[in-house]
Amino acid sequence: MESVIGLVNRIQKACTVLGDYGDDRSLPTLWDSLPTIVVVGGQSSGKSSVLESMVGRDFLPRGSGIVTRRPLVLQLYKTDQGQEEYAQFLHTGNKRYTDFSIVRREIKEETDRVTGKTNQISSLPINLSIYSPNVVNLTLIDLPGLTKVAVEGQPESIVREIENMVRSYVDKPNCIILAITPANQDVATSDAIKLAREVDPTGERTFGVLTKLDLMDRGTNALDVLEGRSYRLQHPWVGVVNRSQADINRNVDMLAARGREREFFATSPDYAHLASRMGSEYLAKLLSKQLEAVIKARIPGMMSLINKSIDDLEEELNHLGKPAAVDSGAQLYTILELCRAFDRIFKEHLDGGRPGGDRIYGVFDYQLPVALKKLPLDRHLSLQNVKKVVSEADGYQPHLIAPEQGYRRLIEGALNYFRGPAEASVDAVHFTLKELVRKSIGETKELKRFPTLQADIAAAAYEALERFRDDSKKTVLRMVDMESSYLTVDFFRKLPQEVEAGGNPAARTADRYTEGHFRRIASNVSSYVSMVSEMLRNNIPKAVVYCQVREAKQSLLDHFYVEVGKNEGQQLARLLDEDPVLMKRREQCGRRLELHKAARNEIDSVLWAR
Ligand code: GDP
Ligand code: MG
Repeated sequence: MESVIGLVNRIQKACTVLGDYGDDRSLPTLWDSLPTIVVVGGQSSGKSSVLESMVGRDFLPRGSGIVTRRPLVLQLYKTDQGQEEYAQFLHTGNKRYTDFSIVRREIKEETDRVTGKTNQISSLPINLSIYSPNVVNLTLIDLPGLTKVAVEGQPESIVREIENMVRSYVDKPNCIILAITPANQDVATSDAIKLAREVDPTGERTFGVLTKLDLMDRGTNALDVLEGRSYRLQHPWVGVVNRSQADINRNVDMLAARGREREFFATSPDYAHLASRMGSEYLAKLLSKQLEAVIKARIPGMMSLINKSIDDLEEELNHLGKPAAVDSGAQLYTILELCRAFDRIFKEHLDGGRPGGDRIYGVFDYQLPVALKKLPLDRHLSLQNVKKVVSEADGYQPHLIAPEQGYRRLIEGALNYFRGPAEASVDAVHFTLKELVRKSIGETKELKRFPTLQADIAAAAYEALERFRDDSKKTVLRMVDMESSYLTVDFFRKLPQEVEAGGNPAARTADRYTEGHFRRIASNVSSYVSMVSEMLRNNIPKAVVYCQVREAKQSLLDHFYVEVGKNEGQQLARLLDEDPVLMKRREQCGRRLELHKAARNEIDSVLWAR
């Protein structure tokens, strides 16, 4: 695997650096896109043996019967030269194993812990990591063997269960399948090939491995398979000779086994001509070539992911803005810029472009007219009340021609009711403006970093709005008062005269106390009040816009600017005291950006080096 080590490790190192960074979204995708190697085959076909020789270490339980009963997810991590090799299990935490026979024992015991000492299987994987200077970063997966019948202690469903479990691993398109078939069995009956063909019909990621070549019957050989005549695969078949059970029992080590395997092929009358393309070492080389090809094919994808992350990070950094200024001139400038940014957005809300300004029109167009219509004028101008008010105004001497005082009092009383809707309009617009200030502050992205300044701007704006409201209220109430303090004379001149010249005085006197007389008064007052109401309906909005909306647009922060201008360095710095969360975020973004760029350079240089 030597040739691929450089490539894979450099790329993976680049990716892992990103991963160390924690919440990086692109990392799992990068890591996932690197292939895993899965061994598939019938029970006792030699899967664990092949896997072990790929790693170059004895650590897997092997033997006859169903030995591998849980998936083993083996993660290889390359460490620096000269470092001691060790293994770690997920389930034993930080404990380091340097004795690989203990690793094997732990795999066995951990298998039993979940399945019992029976022949049961479990799909719960055992996770093992090996840290070594002699490996390449890679994930290898050992799986229980495919079987045909359930044996003692196994449920009937086991055959399917194992198949489904195996399938769940080999289905993934980035998995390289090592389809293990023992040579002392007919390929036509190979479960491994059958399954591999199903999930990888083109055979791009399937490697056929023929084990136990040493165990074939005398006089037979596997040349038909190895030379691709029995069953053609996309990649050439590789024959291997693993350690026999007897070797295992005698503790024959990996090196010796490799030597023996080499010798087997070199001296075999059947296979000598294929010797350079046989054996575990050759298989390892083949796999590394495949890995290299897969990784190279993935590089453009990885690059675009990394580039996308870089773009995202740069945009975010842009958003977060530069670190706050330090000298007071620059600070003042920054503060004013931020205020202006807020003010711009606030104005957009009023002028349109952003929603909310229309609610003010809603007050004038709907709320005010409805309130005016609802005034209890009918009650005020009921016959009974008119009689009462007029008589009270007359005092001991009933009026002779027209009840001047009575008219005045009725009108004054009616106009008094208009104060309510006038004030309510002012308040409604005030609350709308306040809400728009709140919204605009939220929408001013530049301000997000500065919670103190945010709060101060809000306070200053609210205070200004409060002042505008007071002024507006005074103005509209004054308008109402003005209406009652001087009546439009013309209106009354135009009223039809009650007293007909030459009429019967007795009849006139009698008429003055009939209902018709009072009804006429009510109707006259009512139409006068309607006229005033119409006027106020038009003029209250003018006053409100003039005093509140226009002021808000023109001078919302004027006071604030004056106050800020008086501030000294310390106080300015206080206003620009950034949200610590954001400060951290900016720092993180910057660091991540650097890492991503480093990863990009790394991968770039790998590409150029080839
Ligand atoms: P698995 O069940 O597929 O994982 O198979 P193992 O790797 O546990 O091997 C099953 C048995 O076959 C063990 O006893 C191995 O020693 C033996 N074995 C595997 N490969 C070979 C081989 O190439 N030659 C010989 N003689 N024995 C082998
Ligand atoms: Mg096994």
